[in-house]
Amino acid sequence: MAPADPYTPSGAYYECHSCGYRGTAAHTPGSCPECSSSVKNIGVPQE
Ligand SMILES: [Zn+2]
Repeated sequence: MAPADPYTPSGAYYECHSCGYRGTAAHTPGSCPECSSSVKNIGVPQE
């Protein structure tokens, strides 16, 4: 793991396959905080 990239605003953006939960984290968690299913990293959030 590289140290925090100063260009990365707020870390990874991820989405749950099962419930559609989306969130941001320093790194993508292994499972959804809502339903514990697997999540997919969908990259850096863009407004
Ligand atoms: Zn979920």
